[in-house]
Amino acid sequence: MTIPFNKPHLGGKELWNIAQAHAKGQMAGDGSFTKQCQVWLEQRTGCRKALLTHSCTAALEMAAILADIQPGDEVIMPSYTFVSTANAFVLRGAVPVFVDIRPDTLNLDERLIEAAITPRTRAIVPVHYGGVGCDMEAILAIAERHGLLVIEDAAQAVMATHDGRPLGAIGHLGTLSFHETKNIISGEGGALLINDLALAERAEIIRDKGTNRSQFFRGQVDKYTWVDIGSSYLPGEIIAAFLWAQMEEADAITARRLALWERYHAAFEPLERAGRLRRPVIPEGCGHNAHLYYLLLRDLYDRTAFIQAMKAEGIHCVFHYVPLHSAPAGQRVGRAVNGLPVTTDLADRLVRLPLWLGLEEEQDRVIETALRTLEVEPVNAR
Ligand SMILES: *Cc1c(COP(=O)(O)O)cnc(C)c1O
Repeated sequence: MTIPFNKPHLGGKELWNIAQAHAKGQMAGDGSFTKQCQVWLEQRTGCRKALLTHSCTAALEMAAILADIQPGDEVIMPSYTFVSTANAFVLRGAVPVFVDIRPDTLNLDERLIEAAITPRTRAIVPVHYGGVGCDMEAILAIAERHGLLVIEDAAQAVMATHDGRPLGAIGHLGTLSFHETKNIISGEGGALLINDLALAERAEIIRDKGTNRSQFFRGQVDKYTWVDIGSSYLPGEIIAAFLWAQMEEADAITARRLALWERYHAAFEPLERAGRLRRPVIPEGCGHNAHLYYLLLRDLYDRTAFIQAMKAEGIHCVFHYVPLHSAPAGQRVGRAVNGLPVTTDLADRLVRLPLWLGLEEEQDRVIETALRTLEVEPVNAR
């Protein structure tokens, strides 16, 4: 039997909640499930306001509008990330300025940010890779010195913390993803976390087609009309109903993922000591959420051989990302600072192992197969 790389978790109450959403007579967005999810996010993260969106990509696009990004503005971000981190700002005409990552966490290297700032820089977008927090204290201090906004791409970081503070609720704005590959899911889904209350009113308007409909429903204005640019960024109630079931289970989901993560981590320790690979590094102060488990192998050849050998045993492992600065669109619209040697090197060597709820029964097979594969030196290595 093959072991897939990911399997979307179903807790049990999701489909019942969806039936309830229909029974309540509201399938469009901003119904009672959406409100419950938003209150949960506000309470769990401490952000001033949370708005559900239909994806993290949508939340990032909203953040770029709220940041008032103008054509030619520059936004500092890692190259080692998903395309949406950059696309959201490129859609406003911005130039993504790619800065290298730290070799330990694979997060934006805070020591390299200041040298990348120019008079056109408007924002810094740290990505919390694998739910492991960036050095937010250092990044916020740089942003403050230079008058920049901090927009956390916390797509992978729901339920994760840095120095005890929930990720996504530390910068001015934060974005979460509930895509089926993330920890807490609704198929497609996301949220914008707003920590700077001055941005909250406009965020509601942008999310609702540029109208003041939310204010109208609260009785704050006497007619509902077009007041700003905007789009349709809110999810329907069916999505929120599914998501609410997952949020109610979020602590249990995170605990089970952490247990799977720890089992991998213990299993590969001897090979790390033997210099055969490198395991993830979790710096002090990072309460991670076990979003993913990766291994750093010796080189591209090793990784390709590993993925092939695992596949032959019916175990699906994957790699990511093609660094954005080296991708065709990234080369056209972006700027890479100093060649990004760490990004270029690690992107070739990283492999992700299956990590999903229910893997518990089959994780031993993944580990045994991986250890067997890695103990053999690849033939014709170099
Ligand atoms: C998954 C992911 C996104 C996109 O999330 P969607 O909800 O699929 O739009 C953005 N950034 C990062 C770092 C991600 O991992």
